[in-house]
Amino acid sequence: MCPRLKAVSNSNTELGDSWEYEPAPEGTRPEISDSYGLFIDGEFVEPSSGKMMKTVSPSTEEVLSEVGVADAEDVDRAVSAARTASAKWRRIAPRERAKYLFRIARRIQEKARELAVLESMDGGKPIKESRDIDVPEAAKHFFYHGGWADKLDYAFPGRQAKPVGVAAQIIPWNFPLLMAAWKIAPALACGNTVILKPAETTPLTALALAEILQEVDLPPGVVNILTGAGKTGASLASHPGLNKLAFTGSTEVGKKLAENLAGTDVRLTLELGGKSPNIIFEDASIDQAIEGIVAGIWFNQGHVCCAGSRLFVQEGVVDEVLEKLDLRMQSLRIGDPLDKNTDVGAINSRAQLRRIRGYLTQGKKEGAELHRVRGPKLPDKGFWMRPCYLTGVQPAHVVAREEIFGPVLSVMTFRTPEEALRRANNTPYGLAAGVWSDKGSRIFDVASKLKAGVVWCNTYNRFDASSPFGGFKESGFGREGGRQGLRAYLNLV
Ligand code: NAP
Ligand code: MG
Repeated sequence: MCPRLKAVSNSNTELGDSWEYEPAPEGTRPEISDSYGLFIDGEFVEPSSGKMMKTVSPSTEEVLSEVGVADAEDVDRAVSAARTASAKWRRIAPRERAKYLFRIARRIQEKARELAVLESMDGGKPIKESRDIDVPEAAKHFFYHGGWADKLDYAFPGRQAKPVGVAAQIIPWNFPLLMAAWKIAPALACGNTVILKPAETTPLTALALAEILQEVDLPPGVVNILTGAGKTGASLASHPGLNKLAFTGSTEVGKKLAENLAGTDVRLTLELGGKSPNIIFEDASIDQAIEGIVAGIWFNQGHVCCAGSRLFVQEGVVDEVLEKLDLRMQSLRIGDPLDKNTDVGAINSRAQLRRIRGYLTQGKKEGAELHRVRGPKLPDKGFWMRPCYLTGVQPAHVVAREEIFGPVLSVMTFRTPEEALRRANNTPYGLAAGVWSDKGSRIFDVASKLKAGVVWCNTYNRFDASSPFGGFKESGFGREGGRQGLRAYLNLV
Protein backbone atom coordinates (compact mmCIF):
# COMPACT_ATOMS: atom_id res chain seq x y z
CA MET A 1 0.00 0.00 0.00
CA CYS A 2 1.21 3.51 -0.77
CA PRO A 3 2.57 4.89 2.53
CA ARG A 4 0.84 8.21 2.04
CA LEU A 5 -2.59 6.60 1.91
CA LYS A 6 -4.55 5.47 4.90
CA ALA A 7 -7.97 3.89 5.22
CA VAL A 8 -10.56 6.03 6.92
CA SER A 9 -12.97 4.15 9.15
CA ASN A 10 -16.72 4.45 8.96
CA SER A 11 -16.89 6.46 12.19
CA ASN A 12 -15.27 9.42 10.45
CA THR A 13 -17.35 9.26 7.32
CA GLU A 14 -20.73 10.59 6.49
CA LEU A 15 -21.49 8.33 3.58
CA GLY A 16 -19.28 5.24 3.87
CA ASP A 17 -15.67 4.15 3.52
CA SER A 18 -13.08 6.11 1.67
CA TRP A 19 -9.35 6.58 1.32
CA GLU A 20 -7.61 9.63 2.57
CA TYR A 21 -4.22 11.07 1.72
CA GLU A 22 -1.97 12.46 4.42
CA PRO A 23 -2.33 16.27 4.28
CA ALA A 24 0.08 18.08 1.94
CA PRO A 25 -0.46 21.70 2.94
CA GLU A 26 0.82 24.49 0.76
CA GLY A 27 3.60 26.32 2.62
CA THR A 28 3.58 29.72 0.94
CA ARG A 29 1.51 32.43 2.58
CA PRO A 30 1.04 35.62 0.57
CA GLU A 31 1.09 38.97 2.28
CA ILE A 32 -2.44 40.28 2.52
CA SER A 33 -3.01 43.86 3.69
CA ASP A 34 -5.85 44.54 6.11
CA SER A 35 -7.36 46.94 3.66
CA TYR A 36 -7.06 47.88 -0.03
CA GLY A 37 -8.18 51.08 -1.74
CA LEU A 38 -9.27 51.45 -5.35
CA PHE A 39 -6.54 51.48 -8.00
CA ILE A 40 -6.99 54.71 -9.91
CA ASP A 41 -4.41 56.60 -11.95
CA GLY A 42 -1.57 54.37 -10.77
CA GLU A 43 -2.31 54.68 -7.05
CA PHE A 44 -4.37 52.99 -4.39
CA VAL A 45 -6.90 55.57 -3.22
CA GLU A 46 -9.77 55.69 -0.74
CA PRO A 47 -13.22 55.24 -2.25
CA SER A 48 -14.97 58.60 -2.30
CA SER A 49 -17.78 57.31 -0.07
CA GLY A 50 -15.27 55.80 2.37
CA LYS A 51 -17.26 52.54 2.09
CA MET A 52 -15.39 49.25 2.39
CA MET A 53 -16.50 45.61 2.05
CA LYS A 54 -15.03 42.40 3.44
CA THR A 55 -13.72 39.56 1.34
CA VAL A 56 -13.83 36.12 2.93
CA SER A 57 -12.29 32.75 2.27
CA PRO A 58 -15.13 30.47 1.14
CA SER A 59 -13.36 27.45 2.64
CA THR A 60 -13.04 28.86 6.18
CA GLU A 61 -15.35 31.91 6.19
CA GLU A 62 -12.37 33.81 7.61
CA VAL A 63 -12.25 37.51 6.68
CA LEU A 64 -9.13 37.94 4.55
CA SER A 65 -9.19 41.69 4.01
CA GLU A 66 -11.44 44.60 3.22
CA VAL A 67 -11.56 46.41 -0.09
CA GLY A 68 -13.05 49.67 -1.31
CA VAL A 69 -16.54 49.93 -2.76
CA ALA A 70 -16.41 52.17 -5.80
CA ASP A 71 -19.41 54.37 -6.53
CA ALA A 72 -20.36 56.57 -9.50
CA GLU A 73 -17.90 59.30 -8.45
CA ASP A 74 -15.01 56.78 -8.35
CA VAL A 75 -16.09 55.40 -11.72
CA ASP A 76 -15.94 58.92 -13.07
CA ARG A 77 -12.42 59.42 -11.65
CA ALA A 78 -11.24 56.13 -13.13
CA VAL A 79 -12.75 56.76 -16.57
CA SER A 80 -11.21 60.20 -16.72
CA ALA A 81 -7.79 58.79 -15.66
CA ALA A 82 -8.11 56.18 -18.41
CA ARG A 83 -9.11 58.85 -20.94
CA THR A 84 -6.11 61.05 -20.08
CA ALA A 85 -3.75 58.06 -20.18
CA SER A 86 -5.23 56.92 -23.49
CA ALA A 87 -3.88 59.95 -25.35
CA LYS A 88 -0.29 58.96 -24.44
CA TRP A 89 -0.58 55.18 -24.36
CA ARG A 90 -1.91 54.91 -27.91
CA ARG A 91 1.09 56.91 -29.15
CA ILE A 92 3.78 54.91 -27.39
CA ALA A 93 5.76 52.90 -29.95
CA PRO A 94 4.08 49.47 -30.13
CA ARG A 95 7.34 47.66 -29.35
CA GLU A 96 7.58 49.71 -26.14
CA ARG A 97 3.99 48.79 -25.24
CA ALA A 98 4.98 45.17 -25.75
CA LYS A 99 7.79 45.50 -23.23
CA TYR A 100 5.31 46.44 -20.50
CA LEU A 101 3.23 43.34 -21.25
CA PHE A 102 6.31 41.11 -21.16
CA ARG A 103 7.34 42.67 -17.84
CA ILE A 104 3.89 42.03 -16.38
CA ALA A 105 4.04 38.41 -17.59
CA ARG A 106 7.45 37.86 -16.04
CA ARG A 107 6.40 39.43 -12.75
CA ILE A 108 3.35 37.14 -12.64
CA GLN A 109 5.71 34.21 -13.11
CA GLU A 110 8.02 35.45 -10.37
CA LYS A 111 5.10 35.80 -7.97
CA ALA A 112 3.31 32.71 -9.25
CA ARG A 113 3.16 30.79 -5.99
CA GLU A 114 1.86 33.73 -3.93
CA LEU A 115 -0.74 34.53 -6.55
CA ALA A 116 -1.90 30.92 -6.71
CA VAL A 117 -2.30 30.73 -2.94
CA LEU A 118 -4.11 34.05 -2.84
CA GLU A 119 -6.48 32.86 -5.58
CA SER A 120 -7.25 29.66 -3.70
CA MET A 121 -7.77 31.52 -0.42
CA ASP A 122 -10.11 34.16 -1.84
CA GLY A 123 -12.01 32.01 -4.33
CA GLY A 124 -11.94 28.47 -2.90
CA LYS A 125 -10.40 26.66 -5.88
CA PRO A 126 -7.84 23.89 -5.27
CA ILE A 127 -4.23 25.02 -5.22
CA LYS A 128 -3.26 22.51 -7.88
CA GLU A 129 -5.60 24.28 -10.31
CA SER A 130 -4.64 27.84 -9.43
CA ARG A 131 -0.95 26.83 -9.47
CA ASP A 132 -1.05 24.79 -12.70
CA ILE A 133 -3.76 26.55 -14.69
CA ASP A 134 -4.93 29.99 -13.55
CA VAL A 135 -1.59 31.64 -12.87
CA PRO A 136 0.50 30.17 -15.74
CA GLU A 137 -2.33 30.88 -18.19
CA ALA A 138 -2.57 34.47 -16.90
CA ALA A 139 1.16 34.95 -17.59
CA LYS A 140 0.72 33.37 -21.03
CA HIS A 141 -1.98 35.86 -21.97
CA PHE A 142 0.41 38.75 -21.30
CA PHE A 143 3.26 37.03 -23.17
CA TYR A 144 1.05 36.13 -26.11
CA HIS A 145 -0.49 39.57 -26.49
CA GLY A 146 2.85 41.28 -25.87
CA GLY A 147 3.92 39.48 -29.02
CA TRP A 148 1.06 40.97 -31.03
CA ALA A 149 1.55 44.59 -29.89
CA ASP A 150 3.96 45.55 -32.70
CA LYS A 151 2.46 43.24 -35.34
CA LEU A 152 -1.14 44.42 -35.42
CA ASP A 153 -0.92 45.59 -39.03
CA TYR A 154 0.10 42.04 -39.98
CA ALA A 155 -2.83 40.56 -38.05
CA PHE A 156 -5.19 42.39 -40.41
CA PRO A 157 -3.34 42.75 -43.72
CA GLY A 158 -4.19 45.78 -45.81
CA ARG A 159 -5.86 47.53 -42.88
CA GLN A 160 -4.52 49.97 -40.35
CA ALA A 161 -5.23 48.93 -36.76
CA LYS A 162 -6.16 51.72 -34.35
CA PRO A 163 -7.02 51.41 -30.66
CA VAL A 164 -10.68 51.73 -29.73
CA GLY A 165 -9.92 53.99 -26.71
CA VAL A 166 -11.20 53.47 -23.16
CA ALA A 167 -12.43 49.98 -22.30
CA ALA A 168 -14.49 48.93 -19.27
CA GLN A 169 -14.06 45.28 -18.38
CA ILE A 170 -16.31 43.43 -15.93
CA ILE A 171 -15.29 39.96 -14.82
CA PRO A 172 -16.75 37.12 -12.71
CA TRP A 173 -15.44 35.13 -9.75
CA ASN A 174 -14.63 31.78 -11.32
CA PHE A 175 -11.17 32.62 -12.77
CA PRO A 176 -10.40 35.99 -11.17
CA LEU A 177 -6.75 36.54 -12.15
CA LEU A 178 -6.99 34.66 -15.43
CA MET A 179 -10.08 36.62 -16.50
CA ALA A 180 -8.31 39.87 -15.59
CA ALA A 181 -5.32 38.87 -17.74
CA TRP A 182 -7.60 37.58 -20.48
CA LYS A 183 -9.26 41.01 -20.65
CA ILE A 184 -6.40 43.43 -19.88
CA ALA A 185 -3.66 41.89 -22.06
CA PRO A 186 -5.34 42.26 -25.50
CA ALA A 187 -6.71 45.70 -24.60
CA LEU A 188 -3.26 47.01 -23.69
CA ALA A 189 -1.51 45.32 -26.60
CA CYS A 190 -3.90 47.13 -28.96
CA GLY A 191 -3.20 50.53 -27.33
CA ASN A 192 -6.34 50.89 -25.22
CA THR A 193 -6.67 51.89 -21.58
CA VAL A 194 -8.78 49.99 -19.10
CA ILE A 195 -11.08 50.14 -16.09
CA LEU A 196 -11.44 46.62 -14.66
CA LYS A 197 -14.17 45.61 -12.21
CA PRO A 198 -13.47 42.29 -10.45
CA ALA A 199 -16.30 40.29 -8.86
CA GLU A 200 -17.41 41.13 -5.35
CA THR A 201 -16.28 37.80 -3.86
CA THR A 202 -12.83 37.60 -5.49
CA PRO A 203 -11.08 41.00 -5.56
CA LEU A 204 -7.67 40.06 -4.10
CA THR A 205 -5.70 38.76 -7.09
CA ALA A 206 -6.85 41.71 -9.22
CA LEU A 207 -5.44 44.00 -6.52
CA ALA A 208 -2.24 41.94 -6.44
CA LEU A 209 -2.08 42.49 -10.20
CA ALA A 210 -2.46 46.25 -9.56
CA GLU A 211 0.66 46.01 -7.34
CA ILE A 212 2.47 44.27 -10.20
CA LEU A 213 1.44 47.08 -12.57
CA GLN A 214 3.01 49.56 -10.15
CA GLU A 215 6.17 47.43 -9.91
CA VAL A 216 6.63 47.40 -13.69
CA ASP A 217 5.99 51.17 -13.87
CA LEU A 218 3.01 50.92 -16.16
CA PRO A 219 2.08 54.56 -16.85
CA PRO A 220 -0.63 55.79 -14.43
CA GLY A 221 -4.20 55.49 -15.67
CA VAL A 222 -3.51 52.83 -18.31
CA VAL A 223 -5.17 50.24 -16.03
CA ASN A 224 -7.56 51.20 -13.25
CA ILE A 225 -9.15 48.61 -10.97
CA LEU A 226 -12.41 49.31 -9.18
CA THR A 227 -13.61 46.87 -6.57
CA GLY A 228 -17.21 46.81 -5.43
CA ALA A 229 -20.43 44.90 -5.91
CA GLY A 230 -22.94 44.73 -8.77
CA LYS A 231 -23.86 48.41 -8.40
CA THR A 232 -20.25 49.37 -9.16
CA GLY A 233 -20.45 47.23 -12.30
CA ALA A 234 -23.72 48.85 -13.33
CA SER A 235 -22.39 52.38 -12.90
CA LEU A 236 -19.20 51.53 -14.80
CA ALA A 237 -21.15 49.92 -17.65
CA SER A 238 -23.38 52.97 -18.04
CA HIS A 239 -20.64 55.61 -17.93
CA PRO A 240 -20.85 57.83 -21.03
CA GLY A 241 -17.06 58.07 -21.39
CA LEU A 242 -16.51 54.49 -22.61
CA ASN A 243 -15.60 53.30 -26.08
CA LYS A 244 -15.80 49.62 -25.31
CA LEU A 245 -17.37 47.26 -22.76
CA ALA A 246 -16.24 43.67 -22.31
CA PHE A 247 -18.33 41.59 -19.93
CA THR A 248 -18.05 38.01 -18.67
CA GLY A 249 -20.75 36.75 -16.34
CA SER A 250 -24.38 35.76 -16.24
CA THR A 251 -26.67 35.86 -19.25
CA GLU A 252 -29.14 37.86 -17.17
CA VAL A 253 -26.73 40.78 -16.59
CA GLY A 254 -25.31 40.44 -20.12
CA LYS A 255 -28.77 40.92 -21.64
CA LYS A 256 -29.33 44.05 -19.53
CA LEU A 257 -26.02 45.51 -20.69
CA ALA A 258 -26.85 44.80 -24.34
CA GLU A 259 -30.20 46.55 -23.94
CA ASN A 260 -28.62 49.58 -22.27
CA LEU A 261 -25.98 49.98 -24.96
CA ALA A 262 -28.30 49.47 -27.92
CA GLY A 263 -28.15 52.54 -30.13
CA THR A 264 -24.87 53.85 -28.66
CA ASP A 265 -21.50 53.55 -30.35
CA VAL A 266 -19.92 51.67 -27.40
CA ARG A 267 -18.42 48.42 -28.69
CA LEU A 268 -19.70 45.44 -26.72
CA THR A 269 -18.52 41.86 -26.27
CA LEU A 270 -20.34 39.42 -24.02
CA GLU A 271 -19.10 36.09 -22.71
CA LEU A 272 -22.04 34.60 -20.87
CA GLY A 273 -23.34 31.33 -19.56
CA GLY A 274 -23.53 27.88 -21.06
CA LYS A 275 -25.08 24.43 -20.79
CA SER A 276 -22.52 22.61 -22.84
CA PRO A 277 -23.03 19.07 -24.15
CA ASN A 278 -20.39 16.38 -23.83
CA ILE A 279 -21.20 13.52 -26.24
CA ILE A 280 -19.78 10.03 -25.77
CA PHE A 281 -20.12 7.62 -28.70
CA GLU A 282 -19.96 3.86 -28.23
CA ASP A 283 -16.63 3.58 -30.02
CA ALA A 284 -14.90 6.16 -27.79
CA SER A 285 -12.08 5.22 -25.48
CA ILE A 286 -14.24 5.11 -22.37
CA ASP A 287 -11.42 5.49 -19.83
CA GLN A 288 -10.18 8.59 -21.64
CA ALA A 289 -13.72 9.94 -21.91
CA ILE A 290 -14.24 9.50 -18.15
CA GLU A 291 -11.28 11.82 -17.52
CA GLY A 292 -12.81 14.29 -19.98
CA ILE A 293 -16.16 14.16 -18.19
CA VAL A 294 -14.41 14.78 -14.86
CA ALA A 295 -12.41 17.69 -16.31
CA GLY A 296 -15.57 18.98 -17.94
CA ILE A 297 -17.80 19.25 -14.91
CA TRP A 298 -15.98 18.78 -11.60
CA PHE A 299 -12.98 20.95 -12.46
CA ASN A 300 -13.12 24.19 -10.43
CA GLN A 301 -16.27 22.98 -8.59
CA GLY A 302 -18.15 23.28 -11.88
CA HIS A 303 -17.70 27.06 -11.75
CA VAL A 304 -16.85 27.11 -15.45
CA CYS A 305 -18.95 28.83 -18.10
CA CYS A 306 -18.06 26.12 -20.64
CA ALA A 307 -18.55 23.20 -18.19
CA GLY A 308 -19.68 20.00 -19.90
CA SER A 309 -22.80 19.95 -17.75
CA ARG A 310 -25.00 17.85 -20.07
CA LEU A 311 -23.57 14.40 -20.67
CA PHE A 312 -24.99 12.47 -23.63
CA VAL A 313 -23.97 8.79 -23.68
CA GLN A 314 -24.78 6.42 -26.52
CA GLU A 315 -27.10 3.73 -25.17
CA GLY A 316 -24.81 0.73 -25.72
CA VAL A 317 -22.16 2.01 -23.30
CA VAL A 318 -24.24 3.78 -20.72
CA ASP A 319 -23.81 1.09 -18.03
CA GLU A 320 -20.06 0.98 -18.52
CA VAL A 321 -19.75 4.78 -18.50
CA LEU A 322 -21.82 5.19 -15.36
CA GLU A 323 -20.00 2.43 -13.51
CA LYS A 324 -16.59 3.91 -14.35
CA LEU A 325 -17.77 7.45 -13.74
CA ASP A 326 -19.02 6.53 -10.29
CA LEU A 327 -15.77 4.83 -9.43
CA ARG A 328 -13.76 7.84 -10.61
CA MET A 329 -16.06 10.27 -8.81
CA GLN A 330 -15.54 8.40 -5.53
CA SER A 331 -11.79 8.99 -5.83
CA LEU A 332 -12.17 12.79 -5.86
CA ARG A 333 -10.84 14.45 -2.74
CA ILE A 334 -12.88 17.39 -1.51
CA GLY A 335 -11.62 19.82 1.06
CA ASP A 336 -8.99 22.40 1.95
CA PRO A 337 -8.12 24.29 -1.26
CA LEU A 338 -4.60 24.79 0.08
CA ASP A 339 -3.92 21.06 0.32
CA LYS A 340 -2.02 19.91 -2.75
CA ASN A 341 -4.03 16.66 -2.86
CA THR A 342 -7.39 18.39 -3.07
CA ASP A 343 -9.32 17.86 -6.30
CA VAL A 344 -12.46 19.82 -5.45
CA GLY A 345 -12.37 22.93 -3.30
CA ALA A 346 -15.07 25.16 -1.82
CA ILE A 347 -18.07 26.65 -3.59
CA ASN A 348 -17.32 30.32 -4.18
CA SER A 349 -19.99 31.84 -1.96
CA ARG A 350 -22.92 31.03 0.26
CA ALA A 351 -25.26 32.51 -2.36
CA GLN A 352 -23.87 30.22 -5.06
CA LEU A 353 -24.13 27.18 -2.78
CA ARG A 354 -27.77 28.02 -2.13
CA ARG A 355 -28.40 28.37 -5.87
CA ILE A 356 -26.82 24.97 -6.65
CA ARG A 357 -28.74 23.26 -3.84
CA GLY A 358 -31.94 24.77 -5.20
CA TYR A 359 -31.23 23.09 -8.55
CA LEU A 360 -30.61 19.73 -6.88
CA THR A 361 -33.92 19.95 -5.01
CA GLN A 362 -35.65 20.89 -8.25
CA GLY A 363 -33.97 18.01 -10.12
CA LYS A 364 -35.07 15.45 -7.54
CA LYS A 365 -38.61 16.86 -7.56
CA GLU A 366 -38.69 16.39 -11.33
CA GLY A 367 -37.73 12.73 -10.92
CA ALA A 368 -33.95 12.68 -11.37
CA GLU A 369 -31.83 10.40 -9.20
CA LEU A 370 -28.84 11.92 -7.39
CA HIS A 371 -25.48 10.12 -7.15
CA ARG A 372 -22.79 11.89 -5.20
CA VAL A 373 -19.32 11.47 -3.77
CA ARG A 374 -19.28 9.54 -0.54
CA GLY A 375 -16.34 9.95 1.80
CA PRO A 376 -15.25 11.94 4.81
CA LYS A 377 -17.48 14.47 6.46
CA LEU A 378 -17.06 17.93 4.97
CA PRO A 379 -15.78 20.78 7.16
CA ASP A 380 -18.36 22.55 9.30
CA LYS A 381 -17.22 25.99 8.25
CA GLY A 382 -17.18 27.11 4.64
CA PHE A 383 -19.32 26.43 1.57
CA TRP A 384 -19.13 22.83 0.42
CA MET A 385 -20.81 20.57 -2.04
CA ARG A 386 -20.09 16.99 -3.05
CA PRO A 387 -19.60 16.55 -6.80
CA CYS A 388 -22.54 14.62 -8.19
CA TYR A 389 -24.39 13.41 -11.26
CA LEU A 390 -28.06 13.02 -11.96
CA THR A 391 -29.62 10.16 -13.89
CA GLY A 392 -33.21 9.89 -15.07
CA VAL A 393 -32.96 13.41 -16.47
CA GLN A 394 -35.33 14.39 -19.29
CA PRO A 395 -34.50 17.21 -21.76
CA ALA A 396 -37.39 19.28 -20.40
CA HIS A 397 -36.10 19.17 -16.81
CA VAL A 398 -34.75 22.40 -15.39
CA VAL A 399 -31.43 20.69 -14.55
CA ALA A 400 -31.04 19.82 -18.25
CA ARG A 401 -31.82 23.34 -19.44
CA GLU A 402 -30.45 25.91 -17.01
CA GLU A 403 -26.87 26.72 -16.11
CA ILE A 404 -26.19 25.43 -12.59
CA PHE A 405 -22.58 26.64 -12.30
CA GLY A 406 -21.72 23.96 -9.78
CA PRO A 407 -20.37 20.37 -9.71
CA VAL A 408 -23.61 18.85 -10.99
CA LEU A 409 -23.73 16.68 -14.13
CA SER A 410 -26.98 15.78 -15.88
CA VAL A 411 -26.70 12.43 -17.67
CA MET A 412 -28.85 11.60 -20.70
CA THR A 413 -28.65 8.97 -23.44
CA PHE A 414 -29.02 8.84 -27.23
CA ARG A 415 -29.17 6.22 -29.98
CA THR A 416 -27.95 7.83 -33.22
CA PRO A 417 -25.58 10.70 -34.07
CA GLU A 418 -28.57 12.64 -35.42
CA GLU A 419 -30.36 12.32 -32.11
CA ALA A 420 -27.23 13.34 -30.21
CA LEU A 421 -26.88 16.44 -32.35
CA ARG A 422 -30.52 17.37 -32.09
CA ARG A 423 -30.49 17.09 -28.32
CA ALA A 424 -27.09 18.75 -27.88
CA ASN A 425 -28.15 21.76 -29.95
CA ASN A 426 -31.51 22.00 -28.20
CA THR A 427 -30.45 24.80 -25.85
CA PRO A 428 -30.49 28.59 -25.87
CA TYR A 429 -26.75 28.49 -25.17
CA GLY A 430 -23.82 27.79 -27.50
CA LEU A 431 -20.52 28.19 -25.71
CA ALA A 432 -18.76 24.82 -25.93
CA ALA A 433 -19.19 21.12 -26.63
CA GLY A 434 -17.25 17.86 -26.42
CA VAL A 435 -17.27 14.87 -28.79
CA TRP A 436 -15.72 11.51 -27.98
CA SER A 437 -15.26 8.89 -30.70
CA ASP A 438 -12.56 6.74 -32.19
CA LYS A 439 -13.74 7.63 -35.68
CA GLY A 440 -12.24 10.81 -37.14
CA SER A 441 -14.96 11.20 -39.78
CA ARG A 442 -17.70 11.08 -37.13
CA ILE A 443 -15.88 13.63 -35.00
CA PHE A 444 -15.51 16.07 -37.90
CA ASP A 445 -19.11 15.58 -38.96
CA VAL A 446 -20.61 16.05 -35.50
CA ALA A 447 -18.23 18.89 -34.54
CA SER A 448 -19.15 20.85 -37.66
CA LYS A 449 -22.86 20.57 -36.83
CA LEU A 450 -22.64 21.51 -33.16
CA LYS A 451 -23.68 25.11 -32.57
CA ALA A 452 -20.95 26.01 -30.10
CA GLY A 453 -18.04 28.46 -30.08
CA VAL A 454 -15.55 25.79 -29.01
CA VAL A 455 -15.79 22.06 -29.78
CA TRP A 456 -13.30 19.82 -28.00
CA CYS A 457 -12.66 16.46 -29.64
CA ASN A 458 -11.52 13.59 -27.40
CA THR A 459 -10.60 16.13 -24.73
CA TYR A 460 -12.36 18.81 -22.68
CA ASN A 461 -11.66 22.17 -21.03
CA ARG A 462 -8.39 22.93 -22.76
CA PHE A 463 -7.46 26.57 -23.20
CA ASP A 464 -4.72 28.51 -24.91
CA ALA A 465 -4.08 32.23 -25.32
CA SER A 466 -3.73 31.75 -29.09
CA SER A 467 -7.10 30.05 -29.42
CA PRO A 468 -10.23 32.22 -29.73
CA PHE A 469 -13.00 31.61 -27.19
CA GLY A 470 -16.61 32.79 -27.20
CA GLY A 471 -20.20 31.81 -27.77
CA PHE A 472 -23.24 31.69 -29.99
CA LYS A 473 -26.84 32.53 -29.09
CA GLU A 474 -27.36 33.36 -25.39
CA SER A 475 -23.74 32.51 -24.60
CA GLY A 476 -22.81 35.91 -26.01
CA PHE A 477 -20.86 37.31 -28.93
CA GLY A 478 -17.33 38.35 -29.76
CA ARG A 479 -14.18 36.28 -29.32
CA GLU A 480 -11.41 36.52 -26.76
CA GLY A 481 -7.91 35.17 -27.36
CA GLY A 482 -6.06 34.53 -30.58
CA ARG A 483 -5.89 36.87 -33.56
CA GLN A 484 -9.71 36.99 -33.62
CA GLY A 485 -9.78 38.34 -30.06
CA LEU A 486 -7.73 41.41 -31.04
CA ARG A 487 -10.56 42.57 -33.29
CA ALA A 488 -12.70 43.64 -30.29
CA TYR A 489 -10.05 46.15 -29.22
CA LEU A 490 -9.29 47.68 -32.61
CA ASN A 491 -10.83 49.98 -35.17
CA LEU A 492 -9.64 48.86 -38.59
CA VAL A 493 -9.27 51.69 -41.12
P1 NAP B 1 -23.02 38.25 -12.50
O1 NAP B 1 -23.93 38.98 -11.58
O2 NAP B 1 -23.31 38.30 -13.94
O3 NAP B 1 -21.55 38.78 -12.22
C1 NAP B 1 -20.52 39.00 -13.16
C2 NAP B 1 -19.88 40.36 -12.96
O4 NAP B 1 -20.83 41.38 -13.28
C3 NAP B 1 -19.44 40.64 -11.54
O5 NAP B 1 -18.28 41.44 -11.55
C4 NAP B 1 -20.63 41.41 -11.00
O6 NAP B 1 -20.32 42.16 -9.89
C5 NAP B 1 -20.99 42.28 -12.18
N1 NAP B 1 -22.36 42.78 -12.19
C6 NAP B 1 -23.42 42.36 -11.46
N2 NAP B 1 -24.52 43.07 -11.77
C7 NAP B 1 -24.16 43.96 -12.73
C8 NAP B 1 -24.85 44.97 -13.46
N3 NAP B 1 -26.15 45.19 -13.29
N4 NAP B 1 -24.16 45.69 -14.36
C9 NAP B 1 -22.86 45.47 -14.57
N5 NAP B 1 -22.15 44.54 -13.90
C10 NAP B 1 -22.78 43.78 -13.00
O7 NAP B 1 -22.94 36.76 -12.03
P2 NAP B 1 -23.04 36.19 -10.53
O8 NAP B 1 -24.19 36.80 -9.79
O9 NAP B 1 -21.70 36.30 -9.93
O10 NAP B 1 -23.40 34.68 -10.84
C11 NAP B 1 -24.72 34.33 -11.19
C12 NAP B 1 -24.76 33.25 -12.23
O11 NAP B 1 -24.12 33.71 -13.39
C13 NAP B 1 -24.00 31.98 -11.87
O12 NAP B 1 -24.74 31.09 -11.13
C14 NAP B 1 -23.67 31.45 -13.23
O13 NAP B 1 -24.76 30.72 -13.73
C15 NAP B 1 -23.47 32.68 -14.06
N6 NAP B 1 -22.02 33.03 -14.22
C16 NAP B 1 -21.45 32.84 -15.42
C17 NAP B 1 -20.11 33.15 -15.58
C18 NAP B 1 -19.41 32.95 -16.87
O14 NAP B 1 -18.19 32.86 -16.86
N7 NAP B 1 -20.09 32.93 -17.98
C19 NAP B 1 -19.37 33.63 -14.53
C20 NAP B 1 -20.00 33.84 -13.29
C21 NAP B 1 -21.33 33.54 -13.16
P3 NAP B 1 -20.48 41.50 -8.43
O15 NAP B 1 -19.82 40.17 -8.44
O16 NAP B 1 -19.73 42.44 -7.60
O17 NAP B 1 -21.95 41.42 -8.16
MG1 MG C 1 -13.67 35.97 -1.38
